[in-house]
Amino acid sequence: METHKNILMWFRRDLRLLDNTALYHALQSGENVFCVFVFDTTILNELKDVSDQRVDFIWRSVIQLKNNIRDLGGELHVIKGDPIEEIPKIVSKFEINAIFFGEDYEPRAIERDKRIKLSLSKYKTQVRGFKDQVILEKSEVLSPKGSPYTVFTPYKKAWKQKMADISTFTELKLNIRNFAKCELTEMVKLTELGFTPPVDSKPYIEAGETGGQECLGAFEARIHDYHHQRDFPHLSATSRLSVHLRFGTISIRQVFNLANQSVSSGHMAWLNELVWRDFYFSILFHFPHVVNQSFKKKYDALKFTNNQSFFEAWTNGNTGYPIVDAGMRQLNHTGFMHNRLRMITASFLVKDLCVDWRWGEKYFAKKLLDFDLAANNGGWQWAASTGCDAQPFFRIFNPLLQSKKFDEKGAFIREFVPELRKIPDRFIHSPSLMTLEEQENYSFKLGIDYPCPIVSHAEMREQTLKMYKEALAQ
Ligand SMILES: Cc1cc2nc3c(=O)[nH]c(=O)nc-3n(C[C@H](O)[C@H](O)[C@H](O)COP(=O)(O)OP(=O)(O)OC[C@H]3O[C@@H](n4cnc5c(N)ncnc54)[C@H](O)[C@@H]3O)c2cc1C
Repeated sequence: METHKNILMWFRRDLRLLDNTALYHALQSGENVFCVFVFDTTILNELKDVSDQRVDFIWRSVIQLKNNIRDLGGELHVIKGDPIEEIPKIVSKFEINAIFFGEDYEPRAIERDKRIKLSLSKYKTQVRGFKDQVILEKSEVLSPKGSPYTVFTPYKKAWKQKMADISTFTELKLNIRNFAKCELTEMVKLTELGFTPPVDSKPYIEAGETGGQECLGAFEARIHDYHHQRDFPHLSATSRLSVHLRFGTISIRQVFNLANQSVSSGHMAWLNELVWRDFYFSILFHFPHVVNQSFKKKYDALKFTNNQSFFEAWTNGNTGYPIVDAGMRQLNHTGFMHNRLRMITASFLVKDLCVDWRWGEKYFAKKLLDFDLAANNGGWQWAASTGCDAQPFFRIFNPLLQSKKFDEKGAFIREFVPELRKIPDRFIHSPSLMTLEEQENYSFKLGIDYPCPIVSHAEMREQTLKMYKEALAQ
C-alpha cells in the first residue's frame, strides 16, 4: 500500500486560499496536508489594548479561512501559544514530514523560523519557505555589483527589468485538494486570547479574503484617477488595501495584475507604490539594523530634545496645527492614516517638535491596523531624513502650506477636528490667526475650544536645521 507523507501548511501572513503559494505547493505535492494557524502569544502579550483592531481582524480572517478549508474537506487547527513550542508539538502529533509556509522577512520572524528549523532537525522534518508576501524578494533585485540597492530609482529600474517578461501572474489554483482527514476542532474565542471586539465607534473593516477581494474590486473603479487624487485625504482615492496586504488576505500577485493591466498614469503611479513596498522589504531584509538604528548611522548622533508634553499633544491630536491634529485623530479613531498625513505628522513630530523618530514609529506601530515593520520603519526614516533614500534633512514640511495644498477647503480637518467645523475657510488651516472679535463672531475661543499652536514652525525649523548640522559635523 502506498503511504503518503504528511505536510503541515503553517498559515502566517497569508490568510487566504486564493493564490496562496505555500498552500498551492503543499497540495500539489499530492501528500496529506494538515493546516495550522498559531495566535502567537509572544506578540499578543505585548499588545496593551484589549480591543486591538488587528487581533480582531486576524481572528475574523482566521474564522473565514477555517470555514473555507472545511468546505474543501480539510481542517485548520487554530492554536494559541509560542510557535517555537507549538509547531514542534504539532509536528510530533501528526507525524509531519515537511512544513510549508510563506516567507516572513522581519528579523524577529527570521530568528523564530531559524529556531523552529533547528528544533525540528531531530525529527528530520523538512522546512520550506515560499515567496508569497512580496513580488520580488531577498536577492532577486541586486545591483550589477551584486549588492542590494539603497536608492529607490535604480532599484525600481532593476525591479522593472526583472519583471519585464511578466505582464500577468497566473493564479495558483487549488486543483488538488488532498487535505488530511482529521477531527474537527473548535475555533479559539477572542476572549480566550485575552481580547474583546473593538468598541462600536471603530469602523468595521471586512476581514478575510472576502474583504480583500471587495476592496480590490472597489479600487478597480478608482484606479484611473489615483495619480492625481491620491494626495488628498478627504477623497477616497487610494486602495485601502494595506491591511489586506499586511495579513495576506489578498495576494500581492493579484494586486500586481491590476496595477500592470494598463500603462495609464493611475495604474503606473499605483504600481510605483507596490515597488516601494518591495523596496522597503528588501531594505529591512538586507539592513536589519534599521529596526533600532538610523539607516545612515551618522544620523544616530542627532540630539532630539524629546519633550514629553509635545509628544503627548501630538499623539492626542492637540498640537494647534489642524492638519496634524486631523491626521493623528484619524489614526486614533480609525486605525488608518492617509499616506500624505503620515508624511506630514511624521515630519512634524521629528522636525517641528524635535522628538526622536523612533517614538513616533512606535506609536504608529501601536495604532495602525496596517502596521508593517518594513513600510513603517521606511516611512519614518524617510520623514526623519535618517533613511536610505530619504527626504534631505533641510527639507522641512511647512504644515500650513501642506494643509492649504492638500486640504484646501478644510474638508478633512472638519471631519476629524469637529471643534473647527464652524470656522470659516480662511482660518481653517490656522485658527490662531483669528482676532478676539473674529473668535467671538464664530463663538469660538482659541486656547479653550482648540489649542494654540504648541510651537512656532519658523522657530523650530531653525532649531532643527541647527541640530542636524551639528550632528552631521561630528
Ligand atoms: C511615516 C509612515 C509610516 C507608514 N507606515 C506604514 C505601515 O505601517 N504599513 C504600511 O502598509 N504602509 C505604511 N506606510 C506607507 C503608506 O502610507 C501606506 O501603505 C498607505 O497609506 C496605505 O494606504 P493604501 O492601502 O490606500 O495605499 P495605496 O496608495 O493604495 O497603495 C497601495 C499599496 O502600496 C503599498 N504602499 C503604498 N505606499 C507605500 C510606501 N510609501 N511604502 C511602502 N509601501 C507602500 C501599501 O501596501 C499599499 O496598500 C507609511 C508611510 C509613512 C510616511
